[in-house]
Amino acid sequence: MTENPPPGLPADPTPGQRARHGELAAGLAAVEQRIATACAAAGRPRDEVTLVVVTKTYPASDVRLLSGLGVTDVAENRDQDAAPKAVECRDLPLSWHFVGQLQTNKVRSVLGYADRVHSVDRLRLVEALSAGVLKTGRAALGCLIQVDLGGDSDAGEFAGGRGGALPGAVPELADALEAAPGLRLDGVMAVAPLLGRFAGNPRAAFDRLAEIASRVREAHPAATMVSAGMSGDLEQAIAAGATHVRVGTAVLGARPPLG
Ligand SMILES: *Cc1c(COP(=O)(O)O)cnc(C)c1O
Repeated sequence: MTENPPPGLPADPTPGQRARHGELAAGLAAVEQRIATACAAAGRPRDEVTLVVVTKTYPASDVRLLSGLGVTDVAENRDQDAAPKAVECRDLPLSWHFVGQLQTNKVRSVLGYADRVHSVDRLRLVEALSAGVLKTGRAALGCLIQVDLGGDSDAGEFAGGRGGALPGAVPELADALEAAPGLRLDGVMAVAPLLGRFAGNPRAAFDRLAEIASRVREAHPAATMVSAGMSGDLEQAIAAGATHVRVGTAVLGARPPLG
């Protein structure tokens, strides 16, 4: 039941555009199937989980094709790549998520296109984001606290190397976000750690994140988002209660090396 041309393709697509459209459609279908199967296995309705497609390193033309294929949420992790792409795609009905480590000198640019930032991990960043929203007069920014589960040990805590606040710092950050003008506390985010006691065990890591999320919700009931799971571990994340999975490679293919 394909239309001619399918949505997202220009009126007179080149063979290359048609081929890429087919690849993305196949990648999306495979990921949709994995999400549906994981939801069923966990006894969760499919609509509890939102697919956020991580388009980092891929061109705006791919974002446009994905939007035509029904994708509603895209994520980027580097402002210098994301900002021009978001401008090229501003006519599309997309929600933009920023998921990378964010330096305060990039805040102003990110606030130009991001609907949500998943990687809030320090008070200084909360202050910068809040001040930026007030200065630009934009709509409130949805914020998730990124939790560093690689540093989740009792003594001698160390950074897991993938960004985020240590679990002990989460309550204070949540309170600060809730109080900050222009910001909205939406929930928590994590990446399965490469180090520490959860290394190699994403399910245990995501269970820990779920615990942290429920503690945050006790104080801040509207903070219902749990952003967890990528191409390699989305099933474990959905089993542990993730509401948002962030998937790049499994939809778009292996990323070209960073320039
Ligand atoms: C790149 C990235 C993803 C997606 O990773 P894949 O393995 O390509 O699915 C998810 N979350 C964050 C924070 C990322 O940087």
